[in-house]
Amino acid sequence: MKEQAAGGKVVDEKREHAEIASRICELCQERKTLSPHVRFCPRCLGKKGARARMANLAHQASSREKPEEDPPAHEKTPKNRNVKVLVDFSRREDLLKRVTELADDEFRPLELQILSLVKRHFDTVK
Ligand SMILES: [Zn+2]
Repeated sequence: MKEQAAGGKVVDEKREHAEIASRICELCQERKTLSPHVRFCPRCLGKKGARARMANLAHQASSREKPEEDPPAHEKTPKNRNVKVLVDFSRREDLLKRVTELADDEFRPLELQILSLVKRHFDTVK
């Protein structure tokens, strides 16, 4: 009886082991894995590895390309340097009207007309 029981147990263990050993790949559900601890068959493992390598390469490439997208150092405008002025004419709308008329007269955008007036002012002051 003891031997039979032991033998049965051994058979059971063997079958269990065989089932685990023939674990099916989780990815393709077709091929067997190399060992019970591996979730994917060698082919899918290779694919996964290749995909990971590709992703890694793409990431490296993109991080390498980034500095090239930026303009050269001498063309860069320092981020904290304020070079734009928002002018509020709400207290002197008459001035805005006059500058606008002048801009129309000289076929200039309003911003450039204001810039031109400022330049002309300093040219005459000089
Ligand atoms: Zn597979």
